[in-house]
Amino acid sequence: MLDTSTKTYKNLIGGRWTDATSGETFSSINPADTSDVVGNFQASSQEDGEQAIQAAQKAFDSWRKTPPSKRASILYRAAGLLTERADQIARELTREEGKVLSASRKEVLRSASVLRYYAAEGQSLGGGTYLQDDAGAIVYTVREPLGVAVVITPWNFPISIPTRKIAPALITGNTVVFKPSSDTALTGLCLVEALVDAGLPDGALNFVTGSASHVGGVLTAHPLVRAISFTGSTGAGEAIHQAASLTTRTQLELGGKNPIIVLPDADLERAAEVTVKGGYELTGQACTGTSRVIIDRDVAEAFVDSLVAKASALTIGPGDQEGVQLTPLANKNQLERVLDYIEVGKEEGLNLVYGGERLHGGVYDKGYYVSPAVFTDVPASSRLAQEEIFGPVITVIPVDGFDEALRVANGVQYGLSASLMTRDIGAANRFVQEIEAGTVKVNRTTTGNLINAPFGGLKKSSSNSFRESGREGLEFFTQIKTVYYGS
Ligand code: NAP
Repeated sequence: MLDTSTKTYKNLIGGRWTDATSGETFSSINPADTSDVVGNFQASSQEDGEQAIQAAQKAFDSWRKTPPSKRASILYRAAGLLTERADQIARELTREEGKVLSASRKEVLRSASVLRYYAAEGQSLGGGTYLQDDAGAIVYTVREPLGVAVVITPWNFPISIPTRKIAPALITGNTVVFKPSSDTALTGLCLVEALVDAGLPDGALNFVTGSASHVGGVLTAHPLVRAISFTGSTGAGEAIHQAASLTTRTQLELGGKNPIIVLPDADLERAAEVTVKGGYELTGQACTGTSRVIIDRDVAEAFVDSLVAKASALTIGPGDQEGVQLTPLANKNQLERVLDYIEVGKEEGLNLVYGGERLHGGVYDKGYYVSPAVFTDVPASSRLAQEEIFGPVITVIPVDGFDEALRVANGVQYGLSASLMTRDIGAANRFVQEIEAGTVKVNRTTTGNLINAPFGGLKKSSSNSFRESGREGLEFFTQIKTVYYGS
C-alpha cells in the first residue's frame, strides 16, 4: 500500500518532471529496516517508455551538434555536483540498497571520477586517415553518435553502473533513456539531478522508473532505439538480446560464478583474506564476487580453518552503523534466493561448515540479514558450484593439481572474473592464457576494476560485443563513416 507520508518522485521526460500515465506508483524499501519506505516512484507503462524514447529522439539532432567541449563541461559540472552531494547521496544509497556507508560514499565519488574521465577521453575520440594513390584526395574516418541509447541497470552499484553507461553515451552525442532498478530508483535519480543541474538540455537524458515487466518491452524492442546498454542477470540479458530490433546495438553485462584458484605454494592466510573480501564484501552481491574457491586438496583444510575464522569475525549490521562489515541482502527476493540456495546445498548433502542462517534478534529482526556461509568438499557439478547465487555464500571445491583446477574453473557457463593465488610465475602465465574470464587477476580479489580499462566477461557473462569502461566504453556508442574526398 502507498505510504502517503513518503515523498513521491517523478519521471523526467523531455525536460518535464511527470507522473506515469497509469497514475500508479510503487515503493522502495530500506533492506536494513523494512518499515522504512525510502520513496514512492512512478510505475511507468509502455506509453511512458514510448514518450521517453520520442523525447530522446527529438533532442538528438541538437545534442549531437552541441560542441564536444560544451558537452564535456556539463559532465565536469555534474562531477562537481556529485562530489559536493556525496555525503547526502551516500546516505540515500545505503538506505535504499543496504551497503556499508563508506562503500556508498566511495561509489558516489567514483561516479564523479567516471564523469571526469569521459569528459576528457570523449573529446579525444577521433578517426584515422588512409593512404591512397590519388594524391589530390583524402580518405578519412569519422565517429558519429548512434542516436537514442537505452540504459537499464541493476541495484548493486546503483550510481556507478548507470554513470559508466550514461557518461560515454552523452559525451559522444547520443541521447539517453535511463531505467534504473526498481530497488534503487532514488540513487539513479540523484545522478539524473546532478546532470540536469549541470545544464543538460531537455530531452538529452530521460528517466523512467518502473518494473521491467511493464516498461521493459518498449525500451528494448523499439525501432528508434539504436543502442541498449544493460547490466543485470544473464536471463534478462538473453531476453533483451532476443527482443532488440535489427538496428539496435546491445552491450550486455551479465552474471558470474567467479573462481579463485589457490595453489599449494600460495600464502594461505592472504588467500583467505582475499577470498573473504571478494566473497563477502557487498554481502556477496558483486557481479565479480568470489563464489568458488578451487583449492589443492593438500591445503584445503588449513585454508578452510582460516576462512571460517575470518567469516565468523565479520561484524554484521545496518550499513550506516560504525564498524559494520556485512550488511543485509538488498531486497526480499535476494533474501529468499540466498536462503533457497542454502537449502539446495543441504539437500544435495553438501558440507555447510559455517553460517547460512537468517539472523534474528535486535536490529536483525528489522531487515534481510543472513550470516556468511562456507560450504566445503563441494563437487564441481553441484548446483551451488554451477549457478550464480549472488549472496554471501562461498563454496570450497577441493582438486588434485593445477590441470584439474583450471578445468573446474572453466567448467561453468559464466566467464566474468577469475583469480589465482600463487607465487609461481609460470603457473600465473598459464592461468592468464587458459582461464575463460574477461577479467583475470593474480594474487588479488576477483572484485574491482579500473575506470580507464575495458571491463566485461566471456561466455554467458557478457554479450559478445563491446566492452564497458575505458575507451571501449566510448566506441560502443559510436559508429564509423569512411569519407572519400576528391579534389
Ligand atoms: P535483473 O533482475 O536482471 O535486473 C536488472 C535491471 O534490468 C533492472 O532494472 C530490471 O528491472 C531490468 N530488467 C529485468 N528484465 C528485463 C527485461 N526483460 N527487459 C528490460 N529490462 C529488464 O538483475 P538484478 O537482480 O537487478 O541484478 C543482479 C544481477 O546483475 C546479477 O546476475 C549480477 O551478476 C548482474 N550484474 C552484472 C554486472 C556486470 O557488470 N557483469 C554488474 C552488476 C550486476 P526491474 O528489476 O526494476 O523490474
